[in-house]
Amino acid sequence: MIRIRKSSLPADTVIRDERDWIPGTPVYARLTEDCHGKCYICEDNSSDLNVEHIKPLSKYPSPAFALSWDNLLLACKEHCNPLKGNSFAGIINPCVVDPEAKIGLSTGLGRIVIERLDCDTDTRETAELLEKVYNATGLNANWRTKCRKLRGKIETNVKMFLAYAENAGDDTYDELIRQEIDNSAAFAAFKRKIVRDDPQLCSRFSATLAR
Ligand SMILES: [Zn+2]
Repeated sequence: MIRIRKSSLPADTVIRDERDWIPGTPVYARLTEDCHGKCYICEDNSSDLNVEHIKPLSKYPSPAFALSWDNLLLACKEHCNPLKGNSFAGIINPCVVDPEAKIGLSTGLGRIVIERLDCDTDTRETAELLEKVYNATGLNANWRTKCRKLRGKIETNVKMFLAYAENAGDDTYDELIRQEIDNSAAFAAFKRKIVRDDPQLCSRFSATLAR
């Protein structure tokens, strides 16, 4: 999960019901732009996405949340959205606080390591959701298969990034590294943590990290 800088809703756009945020609407287009075409929960940019309410509809049915631009983001239609469902009403809102200051993500042996960086309730709840999303914690065999596939994508992406990082200092590779740690890249949180944890990389790419 990574910081999302959400723009304002296009002028004259009104959200009256779900028909106003389906694909093809100005709302969906603006969300796609703001979220860089990826899921705000797992950061995959190759899955089908749909509009997700940060504060879930079942617990916050009032139009103040249900129809609020500030409460809408994009998430995986078949993975993160159903896993979040109505159970996680208090996760980190990445438009308001920086998730990287609260959760550290890295690849481990057959699982994703999810590190809580503070004791806040939203951090705990987000970590619990990410345990399901990445590691299928507490879920059945079908979900375990789906999560393994997602981890495979992350591991491949991180491996490629580490090969770039070994060549840091070369202009071509430096540019590739910048692209991969930009907020717009898939699974950026994982690669940005690798850079932050390495003093040399951290100082070389501090400008991109700060964005
Ligand atoms: Zn997702």
